[in-house]
Amino acid sequence: VPFPQFLLWLPQWVEDHIGLGVVQLPEPEDRLAFVIELARLNLVHGTGGPFGAAVFERDSGALLAPGVNLVVPLNSSIAHAEVVALTIAQQRVGHYDLGAPGLPAYELATSTEPCAMCLGAIPWSGVRSVACAAREEDARRIGFDEGAKPDDWVRALGERGIAVQRDVCRERAIAVLEQYHALSGPVYNARQGEGKRR
Ligand SMILES: [Zn+2]
Repeated sequence: VPFPQFLLWLPQWVEDHIGLGVVQLPEPEDRLAFVIELARLNLVHGTGGPFGAAVFERDSGALLAPGVNLVVPLNSSIAHAEVVALTIAQQRVGHYDLGAPGLPAYELATSTEPCAMCLGAIPWSGVRSVACAAREEDARRIGFDEGAKPDDWVRALGERGIAVQRDVCRERAIAVLEQYHALSGPVYNARQGEGKRR
């Protein structure tokens, strides 16, 4: 019996939302507003957790790849918004390294700061910068476990030449997290005890 294949796909609504035109968002606030809206629409459509991310060309702001959290629909604990966006970005450029010679510099924008897993994925991905809206404690407040991260993760990425910008549109991102919480969306983290589930 062959093992199942793993297919990563985005819900149809993502394509419908973005349309066929070029999305170009040079300002950090606009990039974060874009991924926060993906997070909000993901909860509205019931296609996963309240998290959105995207890979942009860092300097021009051209959208390379959107991503949303797909843990529940894909039955995959790794399908966080950041991993989804990075994977689609790499498939789109046809290279596992977004920092490969000949490619423009890329930025990962994410509606909530990366968890321990996504933090680990960032240096491997080849992006040159990361921009975040909500902080990890904002996700923890509604029950999501961000995993064990070094306190100085921003500096650690900086030492690898990956700049991190925090708190861009943070309040707007928190509002989406709280909306998910109010709707009693599933908190799917396996490490959470029953007592922490809502
Ligand atoms: Zn993550």
